[in-house]
Amino acid sequence: FSSVELTQFYLDRIASHDSELNAFITVTAEQALATAKTADEKIASGSASGLTGIPLAHKDIFCTDGVKTSAGSKMLDNFIAPYNATVVEKLKSISMPMLGKTNMDEFAMGSSNENSYYGAVKNPWDLDRVPGGSSGGSAAAVAAKLAPIATGTDTGGSIRQPASLTGITGIKPTYGRVSRFGMIAYASSLDQGGVFASSAADSALLLEAMSGFDAKDSTSVDIPVPDFSTTLNDSLKGLKIGLPKEYFEEGLNSEVAKVIEAAIEEYKKLGAEIVEVSLPNTHLAIPAYYVIAPAEASSNLSRFDGVRYGYRCEDPVDLTDMYMRSRGDAFGREVKRRIMTGTYALSAGYYDAYYLKAQKIRRLISEDFQKVFEKVDVIMGPVAPETAFKIGEKSDDPISMYLSDIYTIALNLAGLPGMSVPAGFANNMPVGLQIIGNAFTEGKMLNVAHQYQ
Ligand code: GLN
Repeated sequence: FSSVELTQFYLDRIASHDSELNAFITVTAEQALATAKTADEKIASGSASGLTGIPLAHKDIFCTDGVKTSAGSKMLDNFIAPYNATVVEKLKSISMPMLGKTNMDEFAMGSSNENSYYGAVKNPWDLDRVPGGSSGGSAAAVAAKLAPIATGTDTGGSIRQPASLTGITGIKPTYGRVSRFGMIAYASSLDQGGVFASSAADSALLLEAMSGFDAKDSTSVDIPVPDFSTTLNDSLKGLKIGLPKEYFEEGLNSEVAKVIEAAIEEYKKLGAEIVEVSLPNTHLAIPAYYVIAPAEASSNLSRFDGVRYGYRCEDPVDLTDMYMRSRGDAFGREVKRRIMTGTYALSAGYYDAYYLKAQKIRRLISEDFQKVFEKVDVIMGPVAPETAFKIGEKSDDPISMYLSDIYTIALNLAGLPGMSVPAGFANNMPVGLQIIGNAFTEGKMLNVAHQYQ
């Protein structure tokens, strides 16, 4: 079948199912079909690449030229991006039709997708439950087959946790692997774009197409991007898997633990060797993250002031009034909470006590990982301590919400790649196995994931 037919198939599924799921903020049907037509021409003339003609959805945090880019916020509800993010541009240049822009927690702050100005996203496995966040729209769209693949971003778990909660594959690459240019910034030293797909093999293709050095992103790393697909079938004989004891302690739901343990058993059968390891500073990852990420966010979000773009309050009496009411009206509760804690942590007198200390902890966490990677090839554990929770269950308890990221956040602080791979079900809801690799070992991780799938 043609790309036009394939694209139309997904557009029809979006039309019939998205009113229930709320995975999309914007659907770009016309544009998608036009790109699909170009793709079919390229395929016919032999100038196509592997993914040409395959439709996808982009998280609404990636700037899309001429298309609304909201970051899930009222602040950008009227914002039409004037250029494409590098990721968007790269995939557009190989004629991958964009089906639309997916729902997300406002400015990527959240673990349940309930912090979106556009309303909560439903988990396709149980409509009363969250799909995880912040890339909940992309995860729900792929899980419900409203899109075959989608992009997301992961600052502290926002690809892996929703992938785990919706039973799909998600990969957060090494910091610097994928360009951040045109990705609306939350916490710049942690943000990284990545992939949602229904298999490791599909993830390999999309990740390869998205990756690579970009002169427009000063933290982009100039190293070659391997062909991730060619190593998918490598044998896992002798693979050393580290199991950090801190990832299996209290707080982990016992049913989830059983699924993870069963997955590890499968890896033993594939010839892997299990090594017990320790990441002793794991318990400090969430506290350090919730100083560093809000500190960076408070600075990044200062650009939304009602002056050049985005929301502006009505009839401001003077400049201060415009700043205060524009920001006061258009930012949601969680975003305000982060701006306040971040500003506090950076203020004179508190900087050393909070921000500097958090940075020192960040270094210790990174060193923990490096010590472990002297002994093992990959680390495995759960992605999230429990399966998808009910919509509304944690809304009034930010600390309990923050704890959803207990196993995901540490590797963002260390800049490392991580994956969620569907491993089974607990309480009738999907469970993801987390695979953590050393820097720039995405090829190995995808190989490890593919052998299990
Ligand atoms: N849940 C975490 C937060 O709220 C991580 C979000 C993300 O990775 N974007 O900050």
